[in-house]
Amino acid sequence: MCLLSKERIDPMTGVPKKRVSRGKQGNRRSHHRLTLPSLMDCPQCRQRKLQHYVCPHCGYYRGRQVLKVDAAATQS
Ligand SMILES: [Zn+2]
Repeated sequence: MCLLSKERIDPMTGVPKKRVSRGKQGNRRSHHRLTLPSLMDCPQCRQRKLQHYVCPHCGYYRGRQVLKVDAAATQS
């Protein structure tokens, strides 16, 4: 007999011992919320950018130009 088919028809795998109460379920899901990315204003171009990342609008990081940004591509 094939091992794979035996696992598929075994009814005793993964049967929960106790039903999870709504409170327990809620406590577990209390960590499932989404968080917004921490944005800041770029000191160079005043656009919103991710903290600790190179600004995608002007290519500056810590007061230095580190990326060459095509001005036509960033116009929105
Ligand atoms: Zn910028």
